[in-house]
Amino acid sequence: MNVESFNLDHRAVAAPYVRLADRKQLPAGDVIVKYDVRFTQPNVAHLEMPTVHSLEHLFAEHSRNHSDAVLDFSPMGCQTGFYLMLQDDPAYEDVLALVEATLRDVVRATEVPAANEVQCGWGANHSLNGAQEAASVFLSARGVWSQVFGEVAPGEASAADLAARDAAAREAAARDAALTGEPVRWAAPNEPALPGTTPDADGSTNR
Ligand code: ZN
Repeated sequence: MNVESFNLDHRAVAAPYVRLADRKQLPAGDVIVKYDVRFTQPNVAHLEMPTVHSLEHLFAEHSRNHSDAVLDFSPMGCQTGFYLMLQDDPAYEDVLALVEATLRDVVRATEVPAANEVQCGWGANHSLNGAQEAASVFLSARGVWSQVFGEVAPGEASAADLAARDAAAREAAARDAALTGEPVRWAAPNEPALPGTTPDADGSTNR
C-alpha cells in the first residue's frame, strides 16, 4: 500500500518505542525524516483524546526549544502515538535525546500552551495531567525506545529495560481502563497482541 504504516504489522511492534518510519529526499536535495513515536501498544491500549491533544501542544511548543529541525509533531488517529517530522536526518540517538528532553519539559510544565479558543480549535479538550502521566510512562521505558519489534535478541535489552517496558504497558492499559471504564486488555509487549487477551489473574506475564 502507499502509506508506510499500512505495511507495518502492528501486532509485531512493542510499544513504547521510537521508529524511523520514512526518509524522503526532496528534489532540491533536502532530506526530511518521519519518526513513529509510539506511546501505547497498538490494539491493546490507547491515549484518551484530551491527553493526545495536550501532548501534541506541549511537544510541539517545547521541542522547538531544543531543536531547529522540528517540522511537525502530529497525533495518530488511532491514539497510540505521534509522528515527529524532522529536517536533515539527524542521528537516531539525537532524535531520542530530543524526545527525552521534550518529554521532561512536559512533565515539568504548569500549563498546556495555547489551550484556549483563540489559539486552538478545541481549547477545552485538554488534559495536562493526562499528558504528564503519559510522558512519565514513556520516559520510564527510555532504555527500550530503540527496541521496536517484539523479538529481542539476547543482550539487546537488559532485564531491567524489559521490566520497565512491561510496567509502562501495564500502566498505560490500566490508565485507559480507568478513564474509559473498559476492562484492561493487556498482552506482554514481546508477544503479538491478540484481541480479547486478558492478563493473568496475578498480573504475571507469560514470558
Ligand atoms: Zn489544539
